[in-house]
Amino acid sequence: MRITAKLRALERATRPYDTAFAAAMERRWKELPDTAKTPGQILGRHGVGCEGTHGVFPKCNLKCTPCYHSRDANQVRVDGPHTHEQITAQMRLLRELRGPRAHTQLIGGEVSLLTPDDHAAALAIMRDHGREPMSFTHGDFDDDYLTRLALGPDDTRRFGRLSFAAHFDKFMYGRRGIERPPDEQSLNPYRARFAAMFRRLRREHGVRSFLAHNMTVTPGNLDEVAAVIRDCHAMGYGMFSFQPAAFLGDDRRWKEKFREATPDAVWAEIERGAGTRLDYRVFENGDVRCNRTAYGFYVGHRWYPFLDGDDPRDLAVRDAFFRYFGKMTFTGTPPALLAARITRVVARHPSTAVTAFRWLARTIRRVGLLRLVRHRMRVRTVTFVMHQFMDADVVAPAWEMMQRGEQAEEPRLRETQERLAACHYAMAHPENGTLVPACVQHAVLDPAENAALRTLLPFVEVRTPTRRSPGTSGTSDR
Ligand code: SF4
Repeated sequence: MRITAKLRALERATRPYDTAFAAAMERRWKELPDTAKTPGQILGRHGVGCEGTHGVFPKCNLKCTPCYHSRDANQVRVDGPHTHEQITAQMRLLRELRGPRAHTQLIGGEVSLLTPDDHAAALAIMRDHGREPMSFTHGDFDDDYLTRLALGPDDTRRFGRLSFAAHFDKFMYGRRGIERPPDEQSLNPYRARFAAMFRRLRREHGVRSFLAHNMTVTPGNLDEVAAVIRDCHAMGYGMFSFQPAAFLGDDRRWKEKFREATPDAVWAEIERGAGTRLDYRVFENGDVRCNRTAYGFYVGHRWYPFLDGDDPRDLAVRDAFFRYFGKMTFTGTPPALLAARITRVVARHPSTAVTAFRWLARTIRRVGLLRLVRHRMRVRTVTFVMHQFMDADVVAPAWEMMQRGEQAEEPRLRETQERLAACHYAMAHPENGTLVPACVQHAVLDPAENAALRTLLPFVEVRTPTRRSPGTSGTSDR
């Protein structure tokens, strides 16, 4: 009897799909506008999209041009209990409306202004709500902060894995050791230093990590994008994400003709850095006017896509992945459990194994066996991303019309509405039970929210052990 009960429990645990996750994706697909229901669309097929926190710690201690936060953001005190209370409410709503699993950014001002304990508690709250958290930072903190975040007071590991997105670009002023970077190249030692801290964390404490590198792109650093990729691709970042600057947030910090760095121009520079064409239609995250993504890997200094968009056999692999594995949650699932679930799908659909082996053989041929051997079969997965926020002057009216149920006629506003409807990046408002696109948060809601927070959490002089005194303003793309 006990054995039967155990087998039943095992059967339940290894079921390939979580029905709540599958239902959430079905809802997501239904809600997408037709413009986003493309063959490569990930939303509704393998995920519900990305999420972010807001109003939890708006302050930052670097100055950036541009900064997407409102003027009041830096007048709000960083406060652990407030952060935790807000995150709990926001995560609860995200779970309710978007299902049990998602990637969520712990984002606001600068995350390392939270004490390591407060930061760790915030990550734990997010995990408790089925969220895979990623902390957004300018990266200007030390080993000591990272160690105290990863380990509890008794020196035991709090987390098996940490994810960070670090923002580095020459428009961020006030970084220790390089207050005003003259160019992108001069930041490379800081990019390397940041990644090295996580290697040490793994070596000394066994805590794994995922690192993303973020960079705002304006006409002022467009021609440096390719070199950043070439110089930094092997530092340890699993993602290079570029954000063409938008006229959003604090208008005192709009210093350039941002729109001259067009999405096509930025993507072309990313391709130049990767040394190959990057097909962003194989997989899509929401609207491609907002997000372009290319998934692949490096062998040595050459980057290869997982799937070749020009090869119909590879596109068939994508379609089979969505069909048979799309509803499976990969992130946060222990490897043994994931392997068991995959085995069950393969057992039910043996053709998936054949498809996978053929794809593997093709991919090895593409890279070249010799090259793989020369690099001791070392493969580094690196994803390239471009996320283009929209300007406040179109987001505000387009959103207002959407609230009234009106469809815009004017082409720019119509495009904005389509993009907002397919938004990949949501923020939660527990006070009224709604979700809003991050563009709307920054363009419409942030000013009043931060003004209210300024009263709720008046600024007091707070010094953290790892940073110099606060009091400057601004943040990066966030
Ligand atoms: S936040 Fe704005 S730019 Fe980003 S995916 Fe959503 S609508 Fe598009």
